[in-house]
Amino acid sequence: MSDTTTDPLKRVEDQLKKCVKCGACRANCPAFTAFQREPAVARGKIALAQHVLKDDLALDDQTYLAMSKCLLCGSCVEKCPNEVPTDEIVIAARESLAKKRGLTTFHAAIGQVIKNRSRMRMGARLAALLGPLFFRKVPETSGLRLRFPLPFIDNKRHIPAIARKPFMDRHPEVIPGEPGRPRIVFFVGCMTNFVYTEVGEAALALFRHLGCTVIIPKGQQCCGLPGMSGGDIATVRDLAERNLAEMERYEADYVMTACATCGGALHRLYPLVVGKRNPELRSRLDALAAKTMDAAQLLQQLGLNPTETGGGDGVRITYHDPCHLRTRGLTGQPRALLKSTPGVELAEMEGADRCCGLGGTFNVYHYGSSMTINEAKSRAIVETGARVVATGCPGCMMQLSDGLKQHGSRVEVLHTLQLLARGLKR
Ligand code: SF4
Ligand code: SF4
Repeated sequence: MSDTTTDPLKRVEDQLKKCVKCGACRANCPAFTAFQREPAVARGKIALAQHVLKDDLALDDQTYLAMSKCLLCGSCVEKCPNEVPTDEIVIAARESLAKKRGLTTFHAAIGQVIKNRSRMRMGARLAALLGPLFFRKVPETSGLRLRFPLPFIDNKRHIPAIARKPFMDRHPEVIPGEPGRPRIVFFVGCMTNFVYTEVGEAALALFRHLGCTVIIPKGQQCCGLPGMSGGDIATVRDLAERNLAEMERYEADYVMTACATCGGALHRLYPLVVGKRNPELRSRLDALAAKTMDAAQLLQQLGLNPTETGGGDGVRITYHDPCHLRTRGLTGQPRALLKSTPGVELAEMEGADRCCGLGGTFNVYHYGSSMTINEAKSRAIVETGARVVATGCPGCMMQLSDGLKQHGSRVEVLHTLQLLARGLKR
C-alpha cells in the first residue's frame, strides 16, 4: 500500500465528497465529446480519484490514461451546482499517480524541456535551422507539414514555423516609457517567445503607445503548465518559484501576459497548486496573482482607444474565447476592443466559449481526440463567413490554425492584439 498521508489527493479530499454524481458536468465537456465514455467526464474522474485516494485500484496504464483525458478547460467547474473544482482534483490525481508510479517517459521528457529556457532556446534555434529537413511548406497555406513520421507528431498536422530570433532576444530588459505612466512586467510565455513573436511585438507597441514602461525580465521561464498534464508538479513548483523571484525583481504596477494559458497559471493555478502547503510562498504568489492581467483586459483598463491604433479593411472577424480567459471572466474586454476597431466587423460564432481542443499536452498525447473536439470549432468559424478568427492565446492560435487548414479553410488566425495594433508603426 502506498503512503496516503502525503497523497496530493488529501488536499482535495473534502472537495471530492461534494460531488453528488448528478452528471450536469457532462454538457459541454470536450473530453466527453471525444471519448463518449463516462470515465472521460468530470463525474467519472472524481470517482476514479476517490479510488486512487483509497488505494483500492490497480495503478496501471489504464488508470493513468483515464486521468490524462482532461483538457483542464474548467467547463465542468462552471456547470457544477456544487462548485466541485474538478480541474483542481484532476491536477491532484495526476500528481498522486505520478508520485505512486512515476512519470511516463513522455511527461518526464516534457519536464526536461520546460525546466530550462536556455536549453529551449538552443532547441528552437536548431529547429529553425533544421526545420526544412523535417518539414515541407504547404503551398496553399503558411503552415508546415512533416516530411516523414516523428514520435508524437501526426503527419497530418500543420505546424507553425519557429521564429528565427526569439522575441526576448530582440529587446532590452527595460523599455522606458513616459514619467508617471504604469510600469508593466511582460510575462512573455514560450509560444510568444519562440513561435508567434508578432504577438509580443503587438503587445509591446500597444503598451508603448500608452506611454508605459515595459520590462521583459530575462530570467523568466516557461509558466510550467505543460508539466501539469502529467502530474509533474515538482517541475511546476520549481518554475513557479523561479518566475516569482524574477517578477519580484522589479517594482511594477502590473504583470501582463498575452497568453491566456500563462495568465491562468500566474493568476489561479500557482496559488492553488504550488502555494498550498507553504503560507509564506502562498502570500507572495497571491500578490503576483493580484497584479497579473491579461493584455486586452489591461489595455481596456488603461483606456486604449482602438481608433488610434487598430484597423481593418472592412474585414469580418469572429472571436474564440480561450478557456483560461473564459474561466477568469475575461470575455467582454477583447470583444469591446475589437468592436471599437475601425474597419472590423465582429460576427459571433456558435459556441465561441467552447474549448478548441488544445488542452496543453493533451493535443500531443491525444492528438486524434483533440482534433475531434476541434471539428465543431472549425465548422462554427467557417459558418460565420469571417476572413479572420481572433483569440487571446497563442496555444489556441496554433490549434485553430491546424483545424482550419485540415478543413481546407483559408480563414486567417490572429491574436486580438495584432488587430488592435495594425495601425501602429513598429
Ligand atoms: S462534478 Fe458537479 S456537476 Fe459533475 S456530477 Fe459531481 S456534483 Fe454533479
Ligand atoms: S476540465 Fe474540461 S475536459 Fe476536464 S472533465 Fe471538466 S469539462 Fe471535461
